[in-house]
Amino acid sequence: MPYRPVSIENVSITSPFWGQLQDRAGQVTIPAIIEAQKSADHWQCLTWKQGHPVKPHPFWDSDIYKVTEAACYYLLKHPEDQPLRAEVEAAVDMISAAQHPDGYINSYYTVRGVDQRWTNLRDMHELYCLGHLIEATVAYETLTHSGRLLAVATKAMQHIDSIFGPEPAKKQGYPGHQEVELALLRLHETTQDPLPLKLARYFILERGRHYDHADEDKHTSEDGAEIYFDHEARARGADPYEHMGSEHKPWYHEPRDYAYQQADRPLAEQTRLQGHAVRAMYYLTGATDLVRLLGDQDPAVRKVQPALSRLWRDLVDSKLYITGGLGSVRQWEGFGEPYALPDLESQGCYAETCATFALIHWCHRLVHLEGELRSEYADVMETCLYNAFLGAVNTEGNAFYYQNVLRTVRNQPKERSKWFGVACCPPNVAKLLGSLGSLIYSTSVNTDGAGATPKETHLAVAVHLYVASELTVPGTDITIRQTTNMPWSGDVAVTITGKAADAGLTLALRIPSWASQPGQFACSANGEVKDGYLHIAVPADPAAQDSETTIRLSLRVTPRIMYANPLTGKDELCLARGPLVYCIEDVDNAGADVDVLALEEGGPVREGAEMEIGGVEGVVPLIATGRQLALAQWGMGRESGDSDQVHGQRLYGSQPWRFEDRVRDVVAVPYFLRANRGGNGAMRVWAKRVVSGA
Ligand SMILES: [Zn+2]
Repeated sequence: MPYRPVSIENVSITSPFWGQLQDRAGQVTIPAIIEAQKSADHWQCLTWKQGHPVKPHPFWDSDIYKVTEAACYYLLKHPEDQPLRAEVEAAVDMISAAQHPDGYINSYYTVRGVDQRWTNLRDMHELYCLGHLIEATVAYETLTHSGRLLAVATKAMQHIDSIFGPEPAKKQGYPGHQEVELALLRLHETTQDPLPLKLARYFILERGRHYDHADEDKHTSEDGAEIYFDHEARARGADPYEHMGSEHKPWYHEPRDYAYQQADRPLAEQTRLQGHAVRAMYYLTGATDLVRLLGDQDPAVRKVQPALSRLWRDLVDSKLYITGGLGSVRQWEGFGEPYALPDLESQGCYAETCATFALIHWCHRLVHLEGELRSEYADVMETCLYNAFLGAVNTEGNAFYYQNVLRTVRNQPKERSKWFGVACCPPNVAKLLGSLGSLIYSTSVNTDGAGATPKETHLAVAVHLYVASELTVPGTDITIRQTTNMPWSGDVAVTITGKAADAGLTLALRIPSWASQPGQFACSANGEVKDGYLHIAVPADPAAQDSETTIRLSLRVTPRIMYANPLTGKDELCLARGPLVYCIEDVDNAGADVDVLALEEGGPVREGAEMEIGGVEGVVPLIATGRQLALAQWGMGRESGDSDQVHGQRLYGSQPWRFEDRVRDVVAVPYFLRANRGGNGAMRVWAKRVVSGA
């Protein structure tokens, strides 16, 4: 039997590290997001009627739904927070009241004229917003089981079922920004209602389908390959081929650049990741769930599976930053050529928080797609979580990054913002921190035996992430207690309490790629490593009603030096320890110019004394040795002062770069803690490499 995800209700986080972040999300981040929306007059948009003087942004609604969802996750673990609960109930009242009698709900078209709805799926976000409403519904109903938001979502789904579908009288459309697909599938799995499954299948398989518009007698693309977005543009009286018209968006490479929305061809035919990174990740998350749910029985869905594998390889082999960020072309907030991974924002580095958030979820879906466990997915999930994702919020929990760049330079610090005009990222931070418990474990129940032979139940529990927590295994009296001080220490203890299933229990512990070599991990129990998981048989003890077994796993978290594929053009190195990628910041390196600081290859890298950064305690810094680039030969004398005024600086010269002789200690801290302590703005993950002693 394949492994299945575990509901958030079955997992309690006990980790001080993550508990602190979760508390901060509930006590600071969520109230701050709601307050920001209210004070900017965004929150109220769902109460506005047609003709309201302020035009809502097409996706302000989604921010309301997302923070409501995040609040529900927090309240599941903190039912005592009555003010937040009251805020959620008031939001649900507001949402219910905003729904039109036919089920439609969207503040933009409510204000601008509901007769214009569903006329521009490509650019507007009606289905995207609805997706977030449906995700909020899953969270709210998990919390309350009241049916209050489910009633709204069901009516909205019935409305979109009346608008979209293969029937000639309906629109053969799909969202410009994917999201609703994964949301519909989440709701289907919560309620078993077949309607959301049908709608998600339709949107995923219809997307990018080419059809002939010969009878429209206007333009026809060279191969006759037009899609729904061409059709709806003409229906609006617009010309999708026009370079100078309203149809050609600044983020398009050229008119009809539907690769931006991954709609240039059906998913089954896609061979590489293109376009907007968040859209792609949401799409693939939904599609992976669809394949898991229907792939066995539905040939059209089954055809999608090879594409998922191809796109995964394209991502992890050539388009993913070492931090778990993705998106290296600013113009379309998305994917560029393979290996083109610039670190500076000015060179294109984008790495949007939402893209990493969504990739974490895609990884989690991939974990459950195949019958067997493979650690690659949880490895990437872990990298994203501890690096690009966790650094998107400051240590106070009230300021956020939209882009998570790998390098900033002196006098150009990149500060986190309290809020954004387009505020997709902050609520996603709160959502993921609140629902982290659902990512840690999976379970598999296998019942053998037929006919007269008694059935034996075999249970397997997989641990994907090392986060101190407690799992109540659904349908049993077994609890799994995980204790660890990850990410600072690699020691993990897993204690199984309760009567194991008749045929015993298999524990599958992920061996992270950073500790997978012989000698890098040790376990107190014997087991077999297969595809990155250590499978341990925990035999049932029929005599014991309440047995307790503890298995100890030790993962080596000593400092590592990482390099990049030569096709990236990056002959540099970066420091890592356990799941954490490190960065070099100006504040820890007084007297050094981080912009031109190189690390010595072959020099020692040691752990420094534990420190505290912005209230996060127990931080282990790394100390390497490095040397600074000599600048005088280039007419650059920045070490003499802070002035950026450089006189006589040369762009080209006849001598190669030369590094100063002086070897200095270089202090690095976890990347996720960057930019919390002031400084001049210089920060880098990668540093040039100098050979020690050369
Ligand atoms: Zn975002």
